[in-house]
Formats: sequence, structure tokens, C-alpha cells
Amino acid sequence: MAMNIMFTSHCNQSCPYCFAKSVLVVPGRKRQKEEISAENLRFILDFIRTSGGNQINIIGGEPTLHSEFKRRYDEIDSRGFFAMIFSNGVMEQDTAVYLGGRKSLTSMILNIREPQEYTRSDWDKIIFALKHIKNTVLSFRIYRLGFSIDFIFDLIKEFKLIPFVNLAPALPCLNVESKYLPLSHYQEMGAKLARLSMKSRKFAISWYSDSGFILCGFSKKNLKELKRNVNFVPNVNCSSAVEVKPNLDVQRCFGMWGKRNEHPISLREFVGVKQIHNYFDRRSLMIKHRYGALDECRKCSDFARQICGGGCLVHIFKKHPDLYHGKIFS
Ligand code: SF4
Ligand code: SF4
Repeated sequence: MAMNIMFTSHCNQSCPYCFAKSVLVVPGRKRQKEEISAENLRFILDFIRTSGGNQINIIGGEPTLHSEFKRRYDEIDSRGFFAMIFSNGVMEQDTAVYLGGRKSLTSMILNIREPQEYTRSDWDKIIFALKHIKNTVLSFRIYRLGFSIDFIFDLIKEFKLIPFVNLAPALPCLNVESKYLPLSHYQEMGAKLARLSMKSRKFAISWYSDSGFILCGFSKKNLKELKRNVNFVPNVNCSSAVEVKPNLDVQRCFGMWGKRNEHPISLREFVGVKQIHNYFDRRSLMIKHRYGALDECRKCSDFARQICGGGCLVHIFKKHPDLYHGKIFS
């Protein structure tokens, strides 16, 4: 069981689907930049070790923008931890060279958009990072039906990256606006993914997902094709992500965070990683086992058997706004 540790609350991109907007410094919102301190990082590493782990997941914002990024990473390294870093790849050259040389870096999950969505200089930085950080997995969020992922296959081939793509629909946030694919478009997305999987298969590139799909977004035929072509089994029943802010406040996932939900609980209130997951899962499952995001969920046998979770929790709250009084997660 993992926790995602926010190194920074700021980012150098502004992805239209950004799921973290509610906790980030963004234009027009008064919020102080936060960065993880040496002391809080030490507390987290001790906490992970006490829980029996030796891996840290580093997120942001853009974590490499931390003003003492290398010093913080060195601490992780020197304590014998492994790290997975979630980055947008728009980083300075010396940071890319530094990360490329870290044996403790198990992978960099690089959240990438289509090339035309970047400035020339940001795209060049990504390309530099890909040349130097070989254990990169490209991760793509689908926020519109007209998406294209062919460029991802080309990048994996050209830079000999890990032949694995992380794919998920962009999901809504409870209290801030962001772009996401409405559930009514999921079947079209499912059919398109099945078509694209044939091309991916030719390059021997597999796919995986960590959140956000629904089972009825795929026909049985599409599911079979996806499994056969790219070994893809969409995650249709996600649980708590567990994200830790630089000040050690813990949240279930970025999408659930916001004005009406700001009754923070600190990592210091817990004794282990499993206890945090149980804490958030207990609260969300009360809802997830009873309500789905679609009218059809009520009569769905996959919902009754808890095979499909009836959509992301934020979709469920958007469908049943009266359920959310700001107390469930407080
Ligand atoms: S790179 Fe990540 S944190 Fe930054 S804007 Fe995009 S989705 Fe948000
Ligand atoms: S639980 Fe709801 S979203 Fe999932 S397959 Fe059934 S009807 Fe679709």
C-alpha cells in the first residue's frame, strides 16, 4: 500500500484536466507556495519504514520544482528507499541528468499531453528528460474524444522507454472546474481504445490503468481486444489514493479536496499506511456500495457484486449532490 507525497504545491504547466487544482497554487487564487521540508520528509520516511515499506511515491504539482529537490531526493537515496516520481517532464536539464543517474528511481511516470499542447521550449525539455531518464512510463489522461496517442508509441520507440502506457479518463474535481470526459462518452472512448490497441500491439506496448473507468464503458468484444492486444484490464473500482500535502495533511484523493472538505487530518494522527487507507475507504465505501454515477447502476449486477464501483466518487457526488454535506470525510 502506497501514499503519494506532495513535494510542491506549484506546477509549471496548466493541464486543462488538472485533477490537483484544488490544492495547487494557480493564477487568480490566493495560496502560498508549499514545499516539503527536510523535517516533514524525514517524518514521512520514518512513517513508511514503520509501516514496513521502502518505497516513496513523489508527486506535486511538479515535484522537481522544489527549490531543494536534489537535497530532498538525496535524503531518500541515503536512507535506502526506492522512489517513483510523478512528473510532467518539463524540468531543467541538470535535474533530468541527476534523476537519470539515480539507481533508487524505480520509474518516472510522466504525465504527457499531445505535442501541440506545449510550447516549443517545454516540449524540448520533455525530450531532454526522455533521453536521460530511461525508466520512464508515459501516462495519458483522456479529456476529450478527439484524442490521439500515436505520438506516445513513437516516443517509446524513439527513446527506448518502458513499453507500457498508463491510461485513464480525466476525472472531475468536487470543488474546482476542470475538463473531463462525461460518462455519456465512455462507450465511444472504450471503442476507440480498442481500435488503438491494435496499433499498440504492433509495437509490443502494453497498457495499464489505475483509476476512473466503468465496466459498461466497454463492450465485451472491446474488453477482449484490449486484453489480447495490450494486456489492458481497465480499473473500474478504484479505492483511496492517499495523498500527503507538504504540511503532512492527508487527503483521500485530489478530486475530493476543496472548500467544503477542508477539515484536514494530519499524517501524525495515524500509525501506519494501511490505517490511512482504511480510514478513507471506510468513509467512501459507505457511499460507493449504495450509489452509482448512472441511473443504470441501481439495477446492475456488476454493481451489486462490487465488480464495478459505479464510477469515480466525484462523478457519484455530482449525480447525487444531496449526499455531500462536507461531513463524510471530515
Ligand atoms: S502537470 Fe500535473 S499538477 Fe501540473 S497542471 Fe498538469 S495535471 Fe496539474
Ligand atoms: S455499476 Fe454502473 S457504471 Fe458500473 S457497469 Fe454497472 S451501470 Fe455501469
